[in-house]
Amino acid sequence: MIKRAHFFCNQNKRKRPLNRLSLILVLVLSLLVFQSSNLSASDEINIVTSVFPLKEFAEAVCGDRGEVSLLLPPGAEIHTWKPRPSDIVRISSADIFIYIGRDLEPWLHGILRSVKNPKLRILEASQGISLMEEESHRHQHADEHEAVDPHIWLDFEIDQIIIDKITAVLSEVHPEGSSIFKRNAGIYKEKLQKLDIKYREGLRSCVHRTFIIGGHAAFGYLARRYNLHQISLYGLSPDSKPTAKQLIEVIEEAKEHKIKTIYFEIAVSDDLTRVISEEIGARILVLNPGANLSKEQLRSGVTFFDIMEKNLESLKHGLICK
Ligand SMILES: [Zn+2]
Repeated sequence: MIKRAHFFCNQNKRKRPLNRLSLILVLVLSLLVFQSSNLSASDEINIVTSVFPLKEFAEAVCGDRGEVSLLLPPGAEIHTWKPRPSDIVRISSADIFIYIGRDLEPWLHGILRSVKNPKLRILEASQGISLMEEESHRHQHADEHEAVDPHIWLDFEIDQIIIDKITAVLSEVHPEGSSIFKRNAGIYKEKLQKLDIKYREGLRSCVHRTFIIGGHAAFGYLARRYNLHQISLYGLSPDSKPTAKQLIEVIEEAKEHKIKTIYFEIAVSDDLTRVISEEIGARILVLNPGANLSKEQLRSGVTFFDIMEKNLESLKHGLICK
């Protein structure tokens, strides 16, 4: 049995050893709860998601009607991760599997073909959403010309569309819960709208509108939404190694724009970020795409909003916003 991060929609549910008396109490209470609820334990919806934002969205919508778990192990990088046989088993035994799309999770293609569960609902979150083509920056490889940007969760309006899709699938699987799912979705979408306003206001008047990321180009949607310009050292995937020429180009652009901040993402090696920062005398700040969490972040219960609020602070600081 492979250990995996296991989450409940309700994060407060924790397993604890029970003594006899409390066990009886729990049994009696569960019976009462069972009678008052349409959903028995075996009806609990089992949802698996590929990336962390989808996990949080699914949890927010399903509330206590199901259990959501993340396919990626803590700290794993979504573009480059390779699934194990046990991951196929996890997807196969789920009621709903949610992923972004083949441009983010190319490894899923093989998995989804070998899944043998006619009851499994598969939700491709990016379906029907028009994806951005890779930013026409000069640092891409010739063989990547058709690449599209799959990091759609970094547009908080698209996130609301994804929430609606999750609500629809959950309601199909469990129609009795549909009004609760809708209500939960509404609450979460309202939080996303507030976050969007906070970004819009926070990034309205800044000295710089160009930011350089010494990682991969994950922030294209965010840049588009708030009228910023992203320059990234890597392409859309962190494993596309930049050439010396690309490195020099980024340094020149930084000098041209008089940029004194370089952003760094924890999941990608920081060696080249340091080279650039030393070359142009810039400080290094963190931007986190939030596709996955580290073990420590999981333990401390970091949320999508925590990550996005930190990114906003980091951007305001680096771009010198009023
Ligand atoms: Zn990425």
